[in-house]
Amino acid sequence: MPIDPTEPYDDANIFAKILRGEIPSSKVYEDEWAFAFEDINPQAEVHTLVIPKGSYVSWDDFSTRASAEEIAGFVRAVGHVAREKGLVEQGYRVMANIGAHGGQEVPHLHIHIFGGQPLGPMIA
Ligand code: 5GP
Repeated sequence: MPIDPTEPYDDANIFAKILRGEIPSSKVYEDEWAFAFEDINPQAEVHTLVIPKGSYVSWDDFSTRASAEEIAGFVRAVGHVAREKGLVEQGYRVMANIGAHGGQEVPHLHIHIFGGQPLGPMIA
């Protein structure tokens, strides 16, 4: 079920639990601003998720409320993870689903990094 992006942040969402270490994840990277881990249901050879440490429901929420420092730290972390995964030379895709039309299922902002293969058309 897609989330309602106008709802307040829910501390019990699955990615909040991953951030708190309450449920396991395949961690790829962590710094002051971001945490990256492998998607549990990969849609490409490489499918890694990057989430901000702060409590933000969506890209809309993050781009509205996050500080310049948080935004810079998070964006740099996404680029860092893609480089660490060796995706730059062949190219990759970053994506964020927002709300119902975007098909967002987890109400904590996450950037999908896809790569490791030709990714096909932008929208299937
Ligand atoms: P969305 O549709 O919200 O953009 O994407 C949610 C993503 O989170 C999906 O790709 C889904 O496979 C992934 N996901 C959902 N629950 C878990 C989980 O418990 N662990 C991990 N690693 N990924 C999850």
